[in-house]
Amino acid sequence: MYEYHQPDARGHFGNYGGAFVSETLTRAIHELKEAYARYQHDPAFLAEFNYELAHFVGRPSPIYHAARMSREMGGAQIYLKREDLNHTGAHKINNTIGQAMLARRMGKPRVIAETGAGQHGVATATICARYGLECVVYMGSEDVKRQSPNVYRMNLLGATVVPVTSGSKTLKDALNEAMRDWVANVDNTFYIIGTVAGPHPYPMMVRDFQSVIGNECLVQMPEMLAATGVRGTQPDAVVACVGGGSNAMGIFFPYIAHEATRLIGVEAAGEGMDSGKHSASIQRGSPGVLHGNRTYVLQDDNGQVTETHSISAGLDYPGVGPEHAYLNDIGRAEYVGVTDQEALAAFHYLCRTEGIIAALESSHAVAHAMQLAKTMRDDQSILVNLSGRGDKDIGTVADLSQANFYCRPSCQGQSVKGADHPVHLAPKLERAA
Ligand SMILES: *Cc1c(COP(=O)(O)O)cnc(C)c1O
Repeated sequence: MYEYHQPDARGHFGNYGGAFVSETLTRAIHELKEAYARYQHDPAFLAEFNYELAHFVGRPSPIYHAARMSREMGGAQIYLKREDLNHTGAHKINNTIGQAMLARRMGKPRVIAETGAGQHGVATATICARYGLECVVYMGSEDVKRQSPNVYRMNLLGATVVPVTSGSKTLKDALNEAMRDWVANVDNTFYIIGTVAGPHPYPMMVRDFQSVIGNECLVQMPEMLAATGVRGTQPDAVVACVGGGSNAMGIFFPYIAHEATRLIGVEAAGEGMDSGKHSASIQRGSPGVLHGNRTYVLQDDNGQVTETHSISAGLDYPGVGPEHAYLNDIGRAEYVGVTDQEALAAFHYLCRTEGIIAALESSHAVAHAMQLAKTMRDDQSILVNLSGRGDKDIGTVADLSQANFYCRPSCQGQSVKGADHPVHLAPKLERAA
């Protein structure tokens, strides 16, 4: 059996992780560590968490055998872990519930969060509404523009969205601003981080909450493989997209000890690995400190964090969770890149072949699985974490395909040629006349 005990007591995954925070946050981080240590194995806490996952999120999420796609690829059988079917449409809610439960127990009435595409913001606003917690979400002003339906969703759920106008006006700037708020309001505020990044204990805590994904797969796969006549009890490979890395850690972690299963993380190669326009932090970055932990960072020779690019806002982050940095270095997980074009092609392919509109983030994982399947035998298996649904992305896809849809981001707030009324925040999805 493969021995794996990470992180150490101070939050280090080998040379990565740790807690690089200002003096003012040391106490808050310490308090959070204590609280998590106290409730992590508390039967009442775990019972409530599992209850929420079952009755509010709708878990367990099913595993689906993409039989038609597998047949057309002509190789390994491809299975999809359907995180897209969760309430709010992605894996993010698993983590926000866990952290909001901690906030309540720590007596913090105010929650803050950062968000890129708005998915983590919506998942946080959702659980705050349910628990009656005040919710403030920091979002880059560029993202506010690009993701207006999610901004409106957060408003509907009672959250305040604060546009951040510093830097590149995207996710990393929103994260900086949320940290600043936390420093100023530590006494009454809980900061819910949306991925396996940030200072210890966040990377470990978020991984633990998201591990429900992989733990369910360990139970579901033997049954699925037997039912579909495939060899073995667990998949030969598990594939997941990596932005900060939370959906990937969630499905990888329970499989780490299962040495026969390859773990493959897919980073956004954007316009190409050597184009300078990508978000491939592990494959093209170097070790540095970002947002409170040591990890692979996309930075220039002076240590300045560089601009990133991906078709999918959820993967557009210049760092990566420290545990992925570690898994990469010890060789237990492999990391590959998928370009915008390849992800878009996989998005369309899954729509047409399996009747599933996947998130553009998840489409990166699907694209790699399609390639990998062709190199394997048809009695082998690949499990893909389908991290979210693609409804949020149809505007982006329509824009890229030059389709004449009301919901194109470039149309929002303007009159559309051929349409007789302007497009509002809640766009109509029918075809323009
Ligand atoms: C946010 C998001 C991601 C990327 O975040 P990770 O922390 O890397 O999982 C991937 N897929 C979807 C659907 C998301 O919403």
